[in-house]
Amino acid sequence: MVPTMGALHQGHASLFEVAHQLADVVVATIFVNPLQFNNSSDFKKYPLQLDRDVQLLEEHGVHYLYAPTVDTMYGSDFSTSVHIEGITDLLEGASRPGHFSGVATVVTKLFSAGRPDIAVFGQKDFQQFAVIQRMVSDLDMPIRLIMAPTIRERDGLAMSSRNVRLSTAARQQALAISQGLLAAQAQFASGIRESQQLIEAVESVISLTSAEIDYVKLVDAKTLQDTTSASEGSVIVVAVILDGIRLIDNHILV
Ligand code: AMP
Repeated sequence: MVPTMGALHQGHASLFEVAHQLADVVVATIFVNPLQFNNSSDFKKYPLQLDRDVQLLEEHGVHYLYAPTVDTMYGSDFSTSVHIEGITDLLEGASRPGHFSGVATVVTKLFSAGRPDIAVFGQKDFQQFAVIQRMVSDLDMPIRLIMAPTIRERDGLAMSSRNVRLSTAARQQALAISQGLLAAQAQFASGIRESQQLIEAVESVISLTSAEIDYVKLVDAKTLQDTTSASEGSVIVVAVILDGIRLIDNHILV
């Protein structure tokens, strides 16, 4: 199973390819989940393009699509929420209260509906993967989780359904995110281990633009807690707001 919110792009397509390598039957889900949007205008502006999405699913040999309506998902008396403590309070969770409970609730319902053996998620949403991993482990869900690498535009910007909303100028400025991450990776490769220095390498590139930095942090890949000293496998996570659009990215140090 590959859960998505639609407006599919090559990043999603790569998840279908990974799924095909691991499973005989690949199911995509498309559901723009109101529970995970803490900002209702963000929800309303979320791009919808089901016809194009179906075409991409066919091109990638996806066998089934599950695309329920909001009413099917959440009847008027829906009363359950899946809440994961701790790691949902940090990073995206700190800026988007309730977001991860919305994600965990919908993913639980999608898993119940499809009962997949394997579910594939993207590294692009690194914290989301960590949260779902915690949930699957804590609730003994018999599902193997796979994290597939982030797919980027040719110039380095991580693909996202939200990118289409960026103005030409903001699209150009958004490049600073991946360039900042590359600058930090270069410093790490040259032997620098101090987190603050690596964080500043990212921030100094982004601060040349009009992007508002929500956070740039260096965290442990499992706990997502800040680390003062970086090592291979530590993750730099970034969230910025450009033109009112929230963009996230991350890099696992190698
Ligand atoms: P979304 O439709 O944005 O909720 O994303 C659905 C799935 O696709 C999630 O597991 C995301 O992490 C993944 N995804 C989104 N963008 C990318 C990307 N650029 N590369 C790889 N996976 C991605």
